[in-house]
Amino acid sequence: MKQTEVVIIGAGPAGITAALYLKRANVPFLWLEKGAPGGKLLNIAEVGNYPGLPSRSGFELALELLKSTEGLGVKPQRGDVKSVEKGEAGFLVKTDQETIESKTVVVATGLSNVPTIKGEKEFFGKGVSYCATCDGPLYRNKTAIIYGTGDRALEEALYLANLVGKLYLLSPDKEYQGSAHLLENLSEKNNVELFLNATIKEIKGDMRVSEIVFEDLEGTHSLETSILFPLYGEKSASGFLSSLNVEMDRGFLVVDDSLMSNVPGLFGAGDIVKKKLRQVATAVGDGATVSSGVIAYLNALKKTKK
Ligand SMILES: Cc1cc2nc3c(=O)[nH]c(=O)nc-3n(C[C@H](O)[C@H](O)[C@H](O)COP(=O)(O)OP(=O)(O)OC[C@H]3O[C@@H](n4cnc5c(N)ncnc54)[C@H](O)[C@@H]3O)c2cc1C
Repeated sequence: MKQTEVVIIGAGPAGITAALYLKRANVPFLWLEKGAPGGKLLNIAEVGNYPGLPSRSGFELALELLKSTEGLGVKPQRGDVKSVEKGEAGFLVKTDQETIESKTVVVATGLSNVPTIKGEKEFFGKGVSYCATCDGPLYRNKTAIIYGTGDRALEEALYLANLVGKLYLLSPDKEYQGSAHLLENLSEKNNVELFLNATIKEIKGDMRVSEIVFEDLEGTHSLETSILFPLYGEKSASGFLSSLNVEMDRGFLVVDDSLMSNVPGLFGAGDIVKKKLRQVATAVGDGATVSSGVIAYLNALKKTKK
């Protein structure tokens, strides 16, 4: 069984930064990623708010971030983490391929989509998608629906409104929760209709999505559509922590100032932790903070063993 001081799970902006800082501090670690390194960035059409770099595709930004670890000879290894359990040395990290023993774990696995609507799972890839910036161009001049809240749904709506014939934005909010400038930009689009207090109950169709049924304060309605982007069911990708008694708040890891959870040695960074703003810049900041927390924890562990 492999043994190490730190296992970093996830190679999005948070995991990449944690790996960069830990490597520079000479701390031994293993870095696991179940998909392509880069995380959510790989599917973002444009990131215009990352300081120091002009606006570019998320894919290009991911390559830039990854260059910093590659330059130090560090790359994530493939591994889909299935569970993290307590072990003698600290933790046992079980992937689809191996078990690793580690004194600490940094969970940087971001968010994943959990189907919550009747029909969502069945129609995924057949008119249900989680990325408007990726799949929007396939629905040029058609009708589309975004179900969500906050700036994430607004940004996707602004992008889609320029492509589709008609866009419905359905939100469970009583008053839409989002940045004023994005709301203003959206109000200028004459092909967008907003429904508040809305809950989608069912997705209907034959081979592909053709209709959704939703409820609002006025009753039950249906809307015909070619595509639905349900952005409301995003949850932290943390199912593999279920055997640990980790404190969560609405699915997000509760952490202290050093980004350590209530389980000593288990840290979180990036979108997975409870915080106000989920962005590349904040994920990168977490990656730096978590590495210093991990180093302090390992140093304290060494002292208690002397
Ligand atoms: C459509 C969209 C547009 C966005 N636009 C912007 C923007 O313009 N500007 C901005 O700043 N932010 C934007 N964001 C937010 C930004 O992408 C995230 O805040 C950021 O990527 C979070 O980084 P992270 O490292 O925490 O997680 P992620 O980027 O989600 O990376 C997590 C990584 O962990 C891996 N992983 C998950 N589970 C496991 C497992 N069990 N085992 C191994 N690996 C695992 C995943 O494969 C993934 O690579 C956008 C997000 C979306 C979805």
